[in-house]
Amino acid sequence: MNIMLLGAPGAGKGTQAAKLVDAYGFAHISTGDILRKAVANQTPLGLAAKKYIDAGELVPDMVVIGLVKARLQEPDAEKGFILDGFPRTVIQADALGRALQELHKKLDAVISIDVDKGVLIKRLTGRRMCAQCGAIFNVVSQPETGNGVCPACGGSLMQRDDDTVTTVTNRLDVYERSTAPLIAYYRDKGVLRRVDGNRPAESVFSDVRAIVEG
Ligand code: AMP
Repeated sequence: MNIMLLGAPGAGKGTQAAKLVDAYGFAHISTGDILRKAVANQTPLGLAAKKYIDAGELVPDMVVIGLVKARLQEPDAEKGFILDGFPRTVIQADALGRALQELHKKLDAVISIDVDKGVLIKRLTGRRMCAQCGAIFNVVSQPETGNGVCPACGGSLMQRDDDTVTTVTNRLDVYERSTAPLIAYYRDKGVLRRVDGNRPAESVFSDVRAIVEG
């Protein structure tokens, strides 16, 4: 099954994607993760992308479209994939449609995770990510992570540079302007499913699971 997770920054796309990988073994395709890795490794892609990421702006469409097209052709995408954070614009969505057609694949479901803006801001500014294993936590809902140590692997918990209040506000504006129109785009294509993402991750996942198994 091929799924796209749609939702604002902080909606829980990464968390739900990780649960889907655990439960079903799908390939996880996160453009944010690919770009952050490139920035950390100081590759030409990373050097070009850093200024957009730090400002909370979108990296140019052509750059991310190229990345995803290549990633979709890797062998692990055969067993089904989860797109997380892509597409984020109508141009990207159109390009994805064409790429999938060429590869004789299709999106089976676009799951929109709907979360109120106040909840998103709290989640994003409290979000911490393990520098070692990439697991995601929140210092507000998981006070045991307040010591900066990853409960999963003992690594150091870091705040993403783009999770500061100013950048978060811009990322949410960019989402409303550029990405939210994809809700209507995929509704018109008949593949949109919606889940209430204001709840704990486990409750959201039981709805996501029902969609996958439905
Ligand atoms: P994310 O981890 O998905 O929130 O992505 C972090 C940042 O990476 C975004 O704020 C953008 O700067 C960049 N990015 C990730 N995915 C895309 C995309 N599909 N199109 C453009 N920029 C992206």
